Amino acid sequence: MTIANVIVDVPSQNTNRPFDYGIPEKFEGIVQPGVRVIIPFGPRKIMGYVVSISEESDFSKIKNIIDVLDVTPVLTEELLELGKWLSRKTLSYYISCLQVMLPQVMKAKYRKELWKLTDEYLQSDLDPLFDGRAVIDYEEFEQSNLSYKMLRKHIDDGEVDVHYEVKSRETKKVTSMLEPQMDTMQLEEVLVDLSKQAKKQRAIVEYFMDHKEPITKKQLLQTLGTTAASVKPLVKQGVLQEYEQEVFRDPYGNRNFERTEPFPLTEEQSQAITPILSSIEQRQHEVFLLHGVTGSGKTEVYLQSIQQVIDNGKEAIMLVPEIALTPQMVERFKGRFGSKVAVLHSALSAGEKYDEWRKIQRKEVQVVVGARSAIFAPFSNIGIIIIDEEHENSYKQEDRTRYHARDVAIERASRHGSPVVLGSATPALESYARAAKGNYHLLTLSKRMNNAVMPEVELVDMREELHEGNRSMFSRVLKEKIEARLARREQVVLFLNRRGYSTFVMCRDCGHVMECPHCDIALTYHKNQNRLKCHYCSHEEPMPTECPECESKTIRYFGTGTQKVEEVLQQLIPEAEVIRMDVDTTRRKGAHEKLLQQFGDKKADILLGTQMIAKGLDFGNVTLVGVLAADALLNLPDFRASEKTFQLITQVSGRAGRHEKPGEVIIQTYTPEHYSVELASQYEYEQFFQEEMKLRKAFNYPPYYFLTLFTVSHPNELKVQEVTQKIVQFMRQKLSDQSMVLGPTPSALTRINNRYRYQCMVKYKKEPEQRKLVERILHYYEDEMKQENGLQIVVDFQPYQLM
Ligand code: ADP
Ligand code: ZN
Ligand code: ZN
Repeated sequence: MTIANVIVDVPSQNTNRPFDYGIPEKFEGIVQPGVRVIIPFGPRKIMGYVVSISEESDFSKIKNIIDVLDVTPVLTEELLELGKWLSRKTLSYYISCLQVMLPQVMKAKYRKELWKLTDEYLQSDLDPLFDGRAVIDYEEFEQSNLSYKMLRKHIDDGEVDVHYEVKSRETKKVTSMLEPQMDTMQLEEVLVDLSKQAKKQRAIVEYFMDHKEPITKKQLLQTLGTTAASVKPLVKQGVLQEYEQEVFRDPYGNRNFERTEPFPLTEEQSQAITPILSSIEQRQHEVFLLHGVTGSGKTEVYLQSIQQVIDNGKEAIMLVPEIALTPQMVERFKGRFGSKVAVLHSALSAGEKYDEWRKIQRKEVQVVVGARSAIFAPFSNIGIIIIDEEHENSYKQEDRTRYHARDVAIERASRHGSPVVLGSATPALESYARAAKGNYHLLTLSKRMNNAVMPEVELVDMREELHEGNRSMFSRVLKEKIEARLARREQVVLFLNRRGYSTFVMCRDCGHVMECPHCDIALTYHKNQNRLKCHYCSHEEPMPTECPECESKTIRYFGTGTQKVEEVLQQLIPEAEVIRMDVDTTRRKGAHEKLLQQFGDKKADILLGTQMIAKGLDFGNVTLVGVLAADALLNLPDFRASEKTFQLITQVSGRAGRHEKPGEVIIQTYTPEHYSVELASQYEYEQFFQEEMKLRKAFNYPPYYFLTLFTVSHPNELKVQEVTQKIVQFMRQKLSDQSMVLGPTPSALTRINNRYRYQCMVKYKKEPEQRKLVERILHYYEDEMKQENGLQIVVDFQPYQLM
């Protein structure tokens, strides 16, 4: 008897290994690595993934597989192996690593159907089962006792397909539609019968005398300026019919993309692409870092590299940050490669995502463009993997399986013997350091297309403003320049750092920021205790009443939201039309695009927003970009604060003067002399890199040291402190003297959902045994971690969010 080795859907330490199950005869040949099965597990029936097949088992009493969910494997052998690697790398359960690779639908409830895709007779007993129908319930097949192998063959031949109908309601969106049930004559009679007072009802009837097409209720009410109350009686009388219709959200499905041709490459572009093409040709794995200023034509290099891969009959994965996955971006890929492209991003419904995923699985496409999780696209012949804006933190998954897409890309590409291209105008320090050492192959695009110049950047010293009596968050020069733009009917982008986190303390007189003496990190203000804490080490001190530098009493904590800025802006320049874009105004689906569209249509003068407006915006009429408080980002309690500031200023500046009209950038700061602000304003990446590396070295941060971050949480603060302390002691004892263990210390976000959070951080150069030690810790606390609302220990081997 053959045995299936199954990873069961129970994420726990005890079950983090394959279990053996017998394969009943009817499933033989169907049960293979990568299919999902239903198996008995204790008293329950659960789902599991077959990871391998063996001839015998070490166990004498084994149970049989109950059912097989997939006729074609959902995970390739390569992905199963990758899952193992991921599980070791991130120390997550194997099952979680397999789940993370699959679309949500695979985990949701769905109904399975068999679709007949051909009008021809199926040369088997399957045809009588269909009995003339195009679609049957999968259950019918299961109950028929027909052979699974036979079904497999029909599927492989493309005659039949297994279709998953998503049941889950939230994936479908419906809207109310209204449609007239009468012809014009009848409607006229209704009109005559209506009282003269029923003005709104009359308007509705008149509308439908001219329009026979169904219309959404919302639109009708808007057009006629009326309410649902006026529609209701008409529906009741049978004049109108109201029904629900599903709204399809695939923004690309029925659009025709204008085909584009490759550009003849510039000298710099050719030099950059040559080694990439030769790596593709020679099937040689290599990692390239494409460092190109904004607008230097990186995307064209991506497109032509991918073309080469397609010509070789291979497949390409193109990752872009979620936020940059705008229609413009998709357009460029669809325009070049047409229907060969699948798009995976979060605006798609679960069903749509699944459909795109299926196109990849069925080899109907050769290119996938998508956000982080597209790195797991089930291609089997990968010729290139490209990561655009490689420095973006969104490539790091921040829950469960804490992987970085860059690591996965390099791992997959090395298995396929293909190149990885990391592109950015401001590469992550880690990446640039690797390129400098020769581990990555550095490619450079130093010039903008068409000799366009980068916009002029002016730094405004906000301390000066204060001394001159201006207490507003808008400097005089920024206000003047905004007004000048309004007068010329040009547009302005105003940028504020992400909301909420800015709890550092600064002197408004001299710009001095309270920092930890041990970590070179801004101290975090804890309001309820009125104390300052370092959230890397355990240093803390009372909130000062005057500035230790200049003795001014204007020392205070910082933090301003976009909403506040909007209010101030409206008072300052009442005639300005402002669109505010932040987490609050873009929560609803499609809101992001809609606001951008409005701005693009010049419905507003000023676009005010957070991080999300920094990327990919391309509006020719924007001639001024303002960064309101560069320091708020600079003083995040994060050793990457300077790097992030540099990246952001560069990116935001790239939004101005992209077309004919030249652009200007104003950066307001209390520390214009800070190297990251100053160098970003001069577009000096290389020099910034050198400066920042010195600090990273002095304070033992990446890329000189690796970090491991433990975050412990529990409803009881004492408990959290105790556990974190124990972890610190254990790690200090076991790790080499070269390593440092910092903590325990309260996290910057000390309490979330009534759970206290503490952390400790390990800085190390080489600790081959570290994962084993962590495993011992997790094992030790396993029982406590299983309890509902109990202890939680999260370990991140490549932390980016240090809050
Ligand atoms: P990046 O991705 O580096 O920001 P883009 O790829 O968006 O830059 O290029 C900027 C502009 O230059 C785009 O409008 C693009 O179509 C155009 N472009 C790129 N390469 C060429 C080329 N070789 N010849 C002419 N135009 C080009
Ligand atoms: Zn001061
Ligand atoms: Zn510290």
